[in-house]
Amino acid sequence: MSNHRDNQDQTDLHELNLQEDDLTDSEIPEEDGEPETSEETGVQVQEEDQNEDSYENICVVCRRPESKVSKMFKLQDHMCICSDCAARTLEPFLGSEKVDLEKIFAGIPANASMIQVMIPPGMEEVPRRQKLKKKSAEGKKNKTLAQRLAEIMPPHEIKERLDQYVVGQEQAKKVMSVAVYNHYKRIEADCEDGVEIEKSNMLMIGPTGSGKTYLVQTLARLLDVPLALTDATSLTEAGYIGDDIESVVSKLLAAADNDVERAERGIIFIDEIDKIAKKRNANQRDVSGEAVQQGLLKLLEGSDVEVPVGANSKNAMVPLTTVNTRNILFICGGAFPDLEDIIKERLNKSSSIGFQADLKDKYDKDRNLLQKVTVEDIRNFGMIPEFLGRMPIIVTLESLTKDMFVRILNEPRNAILKQYKKLLLLDNVDLQFDQGALEAIAEQAMERDTGARALRAIIEDRMLDIMYQIPRDHNIGRVIITKEYIEGTGGPQIVMRGM
Ligand code: ADP
Repeated sequence: MSNHRDNQDQTDLHELNLQEDDLTDSEIPEEDGEPETSEETGVQVQEEDQNEDSYENICVVCRRPESKVSKMFKLQDHMCICSDCAARTLEPFLGSEKVDLEKIFAGIPANASMIQVMIPPGMEEVPRRQKLKKKSAEGKKNKTLAQRLAEIMPPHEIKERLDQYVVGQEQAKKVMSVAVYNHYKRIEADCEDGVEIEKSNMLMIGPTGSGKTYLVQTLARLLDVPLALTDATSLTEAGYIGDDIESVVSKLLAAADNDVERAERGIIFIDEIDKIAKKRNANQRDVSGEAVQQGLLKLLEGSDVEVPVGANSKNAMVPLTTVNTRNILFICGGAFPDLEDIIKERLNKSSSIGFQADLKDKYDKDRNLLQKVTVEDIRNFGMIPEFLGRMPIIVTLESLTKDMFVRILNEPRNAILKQYKKLLLLDNVDLQFDQGALEAIAEQAMERDTGARALRAIIEDRMLDIMYQIPRDHNIGRVIITKEYIEGTGGPQIVMRGM
């Protein structure tokens, strides 16, 4: 009986195979109820198919099942890719554009291979932001060393130009002007003789909002060099969640419009450097602190770094290029919040011995204690000696005083008050601030303790009503902002046209 059944099955299979041979791929009936048996294994295919229905598809890239992803696209050979991974795969092509997957997948043939998804129709060409700028043929070779040196802006000129934008911070501006001048001189004079000039990487210490980032931005603009601004808190040791340390170089390359030569003379500013101080009493692996300092050493000193072009992380879809960091100027900045205590402790210790013993609270009210900082203090704060060794220049910024706040409002070339005045002048209205108003704004800013950043917030808040109301009445010719208006106890002085 069983023999007879087996024979019957085989005949069925034979017939089925013949029929299948006659059909094209698309005509193969999917599941018609009849059990099929695989020739090689003899396992019933239908059973497998039924089982397959009760299993979920898995994304080939992230391995998440269908139920965990928003949408799954089916590809060749039972491969599936989820919408997140598909979007990420296409990211290098589309950049910040929002990816309309449905539209893109509509252009991909059914049963497409993975490679067709990675390079969808119309996107075969490498986007411009992933292309590197060609090396210029002329340049260095045509000019003598003297000519090249003459082109570098001398320190006094750099400082004068900085003065037009940055209020106060005289010592910091002076130190930076000299350091930058020496840095670019060093680049030009490179390899002329055996003497190698040390790189002038800088460490900037100053309270938040005292103008660290602003100084560096202004400097880069004056010198016309590319600048990359990054935050040390987002960096982690390679392989951990966060940005790789080398991503700072790829940001610089992007800022230089993918021109490697220009990037290699650029400036990288790493803010919040105090956040990667060595953690005290840490018994876990310190992947975002000391390890990042270690990782930065190689870059600070100068090394060849392989960076992705047009993307933040390396992946198969983006081209890589090599950038040498030897001539890149690294400036690290941070507020180093507890550093003052460390300095105070050291000063108190040295002055409390012997006949010259001072009062213990002598330094408590010293506003510019930071300027007495030594490398030893920063080491005690948690920066490793190798890191400090590669930051030969330490710049300290003063905390801003009320007088400086008033000047910041008024003096810089793009001072915030000048901006508002210009805006209202376009409506033919003359905007003025009386001295009391300026002082009131400065006082409020000091209370907020966020440095000069607070000024903009306060002014924007107080100017909102003025900017809203003035265009209503064309007869208004002048508005004078008073102390009372800033303090919320009165209104501004309004002067009508022709009065
Ligand atoms: P931080 O020291 O925290 O990096 P920023 O440089 O970001 O502070 O300063 C915030 C803003 O405050 C700047 O955009 C700038 O407009 C203003 N500012 C700060 N300090 C000065 C200054 N000394 N002179 C002129 N503007 C300043």
